[in-house]
Amino acid sequence: MKVATRIIHAGRDRKWAGYSVNVPVVRASTVVFENMAEMKHAVRHRGEHVPYYGRRGTQTHFAFSDAVCELEGGAGCALYPSGAAAISGALLAFLKAGDHLLMVDAAYEPTRALCDKVLKPLGIETTYYDPLIGAGIAALIRPNTRVIYLESPCSLTMEVQDVPAICAVAKSHNIVTIIDNTWASPILCQPFELGVDISIQAATKYICGHSDVMLGTASANARHWPQLREHSYLLGYCASADDVYLAARGLRTLGVRLAQHQRNTLQVIEWLAQRPEIETILHPALPQHPGHDLFVRDFSGSNGLFSFVLKQGDLAAVTAFVEGMQHFKMGFSWGGYESLVLANLDVQALRTATSWPYKGPLIRLHIGLEDPSDLIADLAAAFDRLQTIQRDHNAG
Ligand SMILES: *Cc1c(COP(=O)(O)O)cnc(C)c1O
Repeated sequence: MKVATRIIHAGRDRKWAGYSVNVPVVRASTVVFENMAEMKHAVRHRGEHVPYYGRRGTQTHFAFSDAVCELEGGAGCALYPSGAAAISGALLAFLKAGDHLLMVDAAYEPTRALCDKVLKPLGIETTYYDPLIGAGIAALIRPNTRVIYLESPCSLTMEVQDVPAICAVAKSHNIVTIIDNTWASPILCQPFELGVDISIQAATKYICGHSDVMLGTASANARHWPQLREHSYLLGYCASADDVYLAARGLRTLGVRLAQHQRNTLQVIEWLAQRPEIETILHPALPQHPGHDLFVRDFSGSNGLFSFVLKQGDLAAVTAFVEGMQHFKMGFSWGGYESLVLANLDVQALRTATSWPYKGPLIRLHIGLEDPSDLIADLAAAFDRLQTIQRDHNAG
């Protein structure tokens, strides 16, 4: 079955859905048993999709886990109340005091903060590495290195990592690999085929797709699933059935949404490429982009999220650019149906192992499902405001 078809069917088993098309919202803390034999059966199979206790999930959760597993290719999938919780849950499942973690330098900023502010005081040391390191990661491995963490493309700056090369090195040292696969969603990249052990999704983003749910997933291969599942359960992570229902509903349109996000984005990028104010566009589908060849090799397409760097611009200039937009709202997060804009004036502050080569501010866009001509008009007006303020600045 092709992926568009698999998205429609994934997880909608009759045993979860009953007679309805969608698996219903089943809310439960207590699960009640008819007799001792039933309870014993639940205890014996509590790590599987057997009703046991609300924290281990209900039919709603089981069906959605099945769907993500089926699409991403894992052996099991744990659910979390946010993407950030999935990240902490996966890291804490495999790290203990005295361990060493290799973390990609351009990771999602709260992931870096977790390493520095939570893992470090627990006695877990982090070394940040160049996203483009590839097999060179071998030189950073220590006897106590336990986890290599990847994110590809990286947050904000979008470097594409050589996932198979890094995973091959990790395997030869018996190191667990965890990837934040949110940009790809479960369908643009198949991380288990590339050799990773654990794949994380901020389902908050494209899976839900409507900017109204916080949810995370971590899928694991067969070897790592029992430990991920049990540790996440013991740490108390679980997600609300209502949120999971919305995620499962969002998932059904993921294919068509992503295709349209991609189409709109490539059109906007074509227009941006002509703008003299731009130093570089950071999008993995562009031939000059760091890791473009890996992107072509490992991904089946792109989405609506990318960044560009302005040649110059201070806070006032960037403020003029982002304020007064009609369609691009200012906000964190991405992956909903709507367009978003975010400015960052100090990319270097978010990395320590590599030096960021550009001086100008970075603008990140999420291209939504609006008509791209309206979005381009909005951007044209933003560049006009930018030019005006820079002209005034030069004159003054
Ligand atoms: C948003 C995001 C997260 C965190 O997800 P939340 O659901 O907001 O906690 C993790 N990784 C990436 C790449 C993200 O963009």
